[in-house]
Amino acid sequence: MKRFPVHISLQQRRVVIIGGGAEALAKARLMLAAEADLTLIAPKIAPATRAALEGSVRLIEREPAYGDFRSAVIVFIAGLDREAARRWVDAARAASALVNVVDEPSLCQFTTPSIVDRGRVTISISTDGAAPVLGRKLRADIEALAPPRLGALAEFADLYRPSVKACIPADRRRTFWERFFDGPIAARVLAGDETGTHEEMIALLNRPQTNETKGVVHIVGAGPGDPDLLTVKALRLLQQADVILYDRLVSEEILSLARRDAERFYVGKAKSNHAVPQEEIESRMIDHARQGKMVVRLKGGDPFIFGRGGEELEALQNANIPVFATPGVTAATGCAAAANMALTHRDFAQAVTFVTGHAKGEADPALDWSALAALKNTLVVYMGVTKAGKIARNLIAHGRAPSTPVAVIENGSRANQKILKGALSELPALIDAGGIQGPALLVIGEVAALADGETLLSIADRKGLAA
Ligand code: SAH
Repeated sequence: MKRFPVHISLQQRRVVIIGGGAEALAKARLMLAAEADLTLIAPKIAPATRAALEGSVRLIEREPAYGDFRSAVIVFIAGLDREAARRWVDAARAASALVNVVDEPSLCQFTTPSIVDRGRVTISISTDGAAPVLGRKLRADIEALAPPRLGALAEFADLYRPSVKACIPADRRRTFWERFFDGPIAARVLAGDETGTHEEMIALLNRPQTNETKGVVHIVGAGPGDPDLLTVKALRLLQQADVILYDRLVSEEILSLARRDAERFYVGKAKSNHAVPQEEIESRMIDHARQGKMVVRLKGGDPFIFGRGGEELEALQNANIPVFATPGVTAATGCAAAANMALTHRDFAQAVTFVTGHAKGEADPALDWSALAALKNTLVVYMGVTKAGKIARNLIAHGRAPSTPVAVIENGSRANQKILKGALSELPALIDAGGIQGPALLVIGEVAALADGETLLSIADRKGLAA
């Protein structure tokens, strides 16, 4: 270990910064976050530094002097030439302060780490000056995985430390805390909803210690396929899950991001060929949660857009299982981005409608076609490939122009993505010529003219060339 990390309290302790430029300002911001008693001294303080710090930092515009370092714990020297810096290093050391000279590792007694700041929880990363950018990259990874409200959770736990000590025998305390941090109360605090958490904590403390535990279920959106389109929260939950129940549309790449020893169950269904019935999916989630597990129910796109997420939420609530929702990028927005097009447009589309081409228990959903055919509306059809011909005919019969632009996006955001574009009247021909199998989305409306994609003509050309 080249650097030993210590986390020092600087609250109300004297810190001196020599320098008045941008680097000095950056260090000042760090020190203010640590609530230090801060003095900044420089012959010339840049206007931006002054504007940012005025009122919260003692600003002294003159040459530093030996007396300035008295009782300082830490001194930063920023933006001075090496000779001048060396002189002030000696002065600061003589006053027993720890010194850091920005960008001069050989003059530093300590380095400032990359920091993940979550209030009571801080994580610091050092590369011993070897690769600061690597340190920053690592920090970004950890930032993504450490919940923003980790500090609040630590505060919550701190509040109950004395009671836990009083109520739980020493040999069971560690297990108690482990279960607490994996359990529903912690999940709620992390989610920013503390209603009832204190009552539940008190009940937990007063409950005779049994092995009974209560798990949680998170219903999580996996987005349209590209792992980069996962939310930070979805990634974090995947890495914490004990059990993952996933659908057909969840990509392999996304599953590979999950905790390695999580149990995984495929519960996907293909149209009209239900692999696992809905009630069984729900009862499996309930069973796993009752065993005290952290369950992630992972669904393609957004769980609550044509995803039956609402039904699952209700079933879990009825079973009294703590359940939390995490949205995902739905196919409509994911595919529009993949095709470089907008779904609304100030001139062409003031509304956007998401509709399913496949409804519960009926072959032909009774849709309000005249509303869907309205002008200045972008119509996005999920699960519409097999009904595309009927959809196009109905829209045209209800007043949409046959020349209305359409785009068909298959496997949007994935490596095998396919984008076709054309006119409403040629929609079935387009799907046929492009060999669209699904999952695919239909986008109907003027905005589709702006999509990147192959046309009937270019497909014919390509096939002609290949032949
Ligand atoms: N909850 C999902 C939708 C589930 S319904 C969401 O919010 O995206 C399944 C339909 O979504 C598919 O038939 C297809 O129409 C669409 N879909 C999902 N992922 C897609 C993708 N990557 N590319 C194109 N369409 C997709």
